Amino acid sequence: QEEPLPRELQVTHGDPNRKAYSVAVDRTEEIQTARLGLPVVGEEQKIMEAIHNNSVVVIWGATGSGKTTQLPQFLFESGFGSPGSPNPGLIGVTQPRRVAAVSMANRVSQELGQHAEKVSYQIRFESTASKKTAIKFMTDGILLREIADDFALRKYSIILIDEAHERSVNTDILIGMVSRIVGLRKSLSKEDPSVKPLKVVIMSATLRISDFTENPSLFRDGAPPLVQAEGRQYPVAVHFSRRTQRDYVEDAFRKVSRGHRKLPAGGMLVFLTGQNEIRQLSKRLKQAFKPTQREDTTQAKVQLSANEAPLEAEDLELGGTEMDNAGHDDYDSDMEITGLDDAEEDEGFELAEGEEAMDSSTRVHVLPLYSQLPTKEQMKVFEPPPENSRVIILATNVAETSLTIPGIKYVFDCGRAKEKQFDLFTGVQSFQVGWISKASANQRAGRAGRTGPGHCYRMYSSAVYESEFAEYTDPEILRTPIEGVVLQMKSMGLHNVINFPFPTPPSRQGLAKAEKLLKNLGALTADGQVTPIGRRLSTYPLSPVAALAVGDLFVPENQLDPNNPLPTTSKKQVDDDSDSDSDSNKRKVYTNADRLADDEREQRTKAYARAQRLFSKHDDTSDALKSLSAICAYGYASDGDAFSEKMFLRAKAFKEATQLRRQLTDIVRSNNPGLVPAYEARLPEPSQKQIKALKQIVTAGFIDNVAIRADLAPVPPENPRAPRRAIDVPYLTLFRSRDGKGQDLQERAVYVHPSSLLAKLTPKEMPQYITYSHLQQSSASLVSDQVPKIRMFPLVAPSGLQLSAIAHDTPLI
Ligand code: ADP
Ligand code: MG
Repeated sequence: QEEPLPRELQVTHGDPNRKAYSVAVDRTEEIQTARLGLPVVGEEQKIMEAIHNNSVVVIWGATGSGKTTQLPQFLFESGFGSPGSPNPGLIGVTQPRRVAAVSMANRVSQELGQHAEKVSYQIRFESTASKKTAIKFMTDGILLREIADDFALRKYSIILIDEAHERSVNTDILIGMVSRIVGLRKSLSKEDPSVKPLKVVIMSATLRISDFTENPSLFRDGAPPLVQAEGRQYPVAVHFSRRTQRDYVEDAFRKVSRGHRKLPAGGMLVFLTGQNEIRQLSKRLKQAFKPTQREDTTQAKVQLSANEAPLEAEDLELGGTEMDNAGHDDYDSDMEITGLDDAEEDEGFELAEGEEAMDSSTRVHVLPLYSQLPTKEQMKVFEPPPENSRVIILATNVAETSLTIPGIKYVFDCGRAKEKQFDLFTGVQSFQVGWISKASANQRAGRAGRTGPGHCYRMYSSAVYESEFAEYTDPEILRTPIEGVVLQMKSMGLHNVINFPFPTPPSRQGLAKAEKLLKNLGALTADGQVTPIGRRLSTYPLSPVAALAVGDLFVPENQLDPNNPLPTTSKKQVDDDSDSDSDSNKRKVYTNADRLADDEREQRTKAYARAQRLFSKHDDTSDALKSLSAICAYGYASDGDAFSEKMFLRAKAFKEATQLRRQLTDIVRSNNPGLVPAYEARLPEPSQKQIKALKQIVTAGFIDNVAIRADLAPVPPENPRAPRRAIDVPYLTLFRSRDGKGQDLQERAVYVHPSSLLAKLTPKEMPQYITYSHLQQSSASLVSDQVPKIRMFPLVAPSGLQLSAIAHDTPLI
């Protein structure tokens, strides 16, 4: 017997095999009209047929075509999410961005008239869900956490995965997961009729969806059907800059100002990379023109929360280093910093027949739009601007595909975005400003053609676009530390990471290696369960083994003078260190130095040695502590760049280190409320006790990378086989390790790299144990050796006691 239907559900006629239900919705006149213009609404029947007949459907429609706002309503109207209907479970809609989850929930709620309260959203720390909820918008991270609680997601009847083209790690994992959940729910429903099958809709704003549709490991029942919602798009005239300016915020200010003075009425949308830039430009525009509101001086504080999947890139402030980080000088062939003459700048601002510039007294209605902006402020972009004003929206990527802002006629695109990047070598994930892809640039341009013909002003040249922009952005999973992905999946209870159906799978070897490493580190138990340490680790934006994360902090000695490289080994002889051993090499290199006969050069070399000594005064066996000393000293310098120059430090690496330190301090603080002091630029030098603790901690983290001196038996000095130089003292790695080519290095001697502090010691002074960060097969020429050797980059020299404490898991020695 059928349960009685709630009042709002009515049985409709139609397909006798599929009893259709519908929920009536009274929409306002205005909303009705707006909906009718949306391409997705024109395809309602086709879309709903596809969803009824398939468990997985892919929907493609240009941004603004109505996917996010309309699909949930179609489903709701056909009974999804209503108790008593054939599909009583919730309609879940996932978004990669919090802003979109909140604002889309609000919009759908508004469109649903008397059913407004059926729509809710959930983001980290904030939920409006109630018993009445039928449609729930959430970030993809929230749904992943729900899967950890109930793998079958019984609460839901359908999941809409939105913005799939963005290919965030969470979206990719989610798609892999739901592909399995669909199968699980099918079999559960056969056993228990109260469990209904799960349906999935993947929504994308680009047609690059073959990773989902043509992936046999993903959807086993065959490729899901694709439904296209043809977008109505007005033509957008694209104007490239003749030259690409390095300071794109300044460039944006100039172009937008000119545009406002010269162009007819129409909203402007400016794409920048983050809050700082947006605030900067907002302030300048409000100073230059008559604003509709005063400058808001309150600053949204970036909240770092312990367990949430990392912040969206745009939320992070990159300090003063944004321009440096962009590194555009490396690839920006036609970059020009000088001003342009007016004629060039006017390009693209000519009026067409019958067009007229706005009145010169027109006020500017400047609105910021970024992820951390309070919701109330975000919503202002959807409100009509005040009379006689021009709306100018300064936005991050959020406005690229997630949000469609009404009335935009002009787009100004800086061509850059803040992105998560991952350095395979250092294991560090960082947020950098980089070029967007061609696909993104075209999405941005498209924002100008929603309501009528528009213009897009690109703040870069067509040459840069052609040569530097990738077709598409790589999926994030390929730009993320793999240990982090494995840890995240394990903490969601997914044990078979290697066979997981990723839309774009990382290498199996990489996954296996990551799993082993996480076990070694104690982040996973032997049977693959996440430990409390593992949970902590997963909150840091670093691979768990990121050491000296920002790359070399010091200018290598052999690069002191780029025109005249000096052989590395000569340093200890030239600096005339009293503790250098008096061997025959010394003489040979003295002549070498003589031959160079360059006073200035020698001065420089001496100054270099002095600087190096200064940083290693606390501990002459630890390169890691030398870096720490340099970082402490840098924090006290009044002029970081001048200090770097004087002390032979790589200024850029120090800026990155500072930024990373600030970020990590914030995370540690939020993980340990009340225990950790706030970030301070000035970091006091560690005490002797702290140095000891640091050595043990570093060694515990790199327990795989400990080497022991191989020539422990005392060797008489006259023995010709005794090593003469520190860099000839053989060590054996304690654990089986491999070099980059996968060659087994066990039982092979390794030697200290000549760039290490330890290379300055006598062989006798060389420590018994060394913890190193990585190994390198050095070329013969590097140290004028006959045989190439495997060189290690030491971090610290732990004591035997410390090693045994680590082995027995006892407290710090
Ligand atoms: P898609 O998901 O395909 O990109 P959306 O469903 O987000 O498209 O948007 C469909 C339409 O709804 C757009 O034209 C957009 O301008 C409009 N819209 C979305 N949110 C709002 C809002 N808060 N106020 C007014 N219009 C909105
Ligand atoms: Mg959308």
